[in-house]
Amino acid sequence: MSAYRLLFFCFAILSFSLGLGAEPTPAKRGAARETRATPEEPGITFNSVHVDGPYIAMTFDDGPSATLTPKLLDLLAAHHIKATFFVIGENVAEHPEIVARAAQEGHEIANHSWSHPNFGKMSDENVRRQLQQTDDAIKNATGKRPTLLRPPYGSITAREKRWIHDEFGYEIILWDVDPYDWKRPGPAVVRARILKETRPGSIVLSHDIHPGTIEAMPSTFDELEAKGFKFVTVSELIRMAAARPSHASPQPGGNVPPSATGSPSPTPSPASSPGG
Ligand SMILES: [Zn+2]
Repeated sequence: MSAYRLLFFCFAILSFSLGLGAEPTPAKRGAARETRATPEEPGITFNSVHVDGPYIAMTFDDGPSATLTPKLLDLLAAHHIKATFFVIGENVAEHPEIVARAAQEGHEIANHSWSHPNFGKMSDENVRRQLQQTDDAIKNATGKRPTLLRPPYGSITAREKRWIHDEFGYEIILWDVDPYDWKRPGPAVVRARILKETRPGSIVLSHDIHPGTIEAMPSTFDELEAKGFKFVTVSELIRMAAARPSHASPQPGGNVPPSATGSPSPTPSPASSPGG
């Protein structure tokens, strides 16, 4: 009986402190917590971003590579292009100086797991370890923690997205342009595929561990620039979408095909593409 009374008084005090008269129901507790989220809570997964200008994000996965990543960095510097590197923790631990250089030169460094496993088939504990170790390695190399995750192979469940976002604060970044460069089709094919598919707001997937990809980049950058594209990091691209006056509805704006919209766009999980 006294326990019940205590509970009653606790509830009464809680109700009072939350503001009597507003909505004195037990649901108030949950509601109070939810108000921290914005009314239109942005999604956490991006394949591309709906932007108003000719902005795109070039992304390079699976590095750093001791030989190829520095070459790519030279090239990006020559073109004044900022890119995003989704790095493998193991490789960061081996070549922290390359990752440090990339960050120093204005590129974004993001989490792509420690050893490139398939998150869709792993325990939460193992996924957590993969993410934390890589997060730490990036922090050690650059002084900054990453804010983006690309799951290896694009494979991640909806439930994983949610808890990873809650625990690590990561946004989940996939892609809308995939040149399948990991199959090593040759530089000309890599370039042609990127040029054909890239549109405003695109997130272009490539890998800085394949020589043909690096070989394709000089002319790819030249031609993308000739088409008027401007290069930003993935976080910058997302901020551009957030700055739009109205982004609640993911409907196409008229001049952008549906495949390039989705700011943010949910994706089937786990994604089946072997890329990433
Ligand atoms: Zn990968």
